[in-house]
Amino acid sequence: MQINFKRYALYLLRWQASTPILAGVGILLAGMGYIVAAIIANLIGGLIFFWVDQFIFTSQSLATQWEVRENITCVDCGKIARGYRLVRAGDYDKSNDPVPEFRCEECSKKKSETLRNKGIKIE
Ligand SMILES: [Zn+2]
Repeated sequence: MQINFKRYALYLLRWQASTPILAGVGILLAGMGYIVAAIIANLIGGLIFFWVDQFIFTSQSLATQWEVRENITCVDCGKIARGYRLVRAGDYDKSNDPVPEFRCEECSKKKSETLRNKGIKIE
């Protein structure tokens, strides 16, 4: 299993964000009993964090993004083939590259390995 550390860090932060809700509602509703207060606090947390969690686990802005195009000329070997281009991975961001470089599958794998060796995490 590969861990996306950006998602993991956000997920840990999101758990911290639920702390004040749990504590605040717990204090406000303590008179109703701790169990009832915890149930209501978790209900409020669930209503909010369902959406936050959905973003954390499905957002493409946190994921590795590839662009695939048919019939490109590979910038490395010149072969005309289906082309791949890494758009975004971690801090690597070529989403606004004015001259996007596409590579054939074979050269793309080599390039990915080079980027991995530079410390770029490609999922
Ligand atoms: Zn190639």
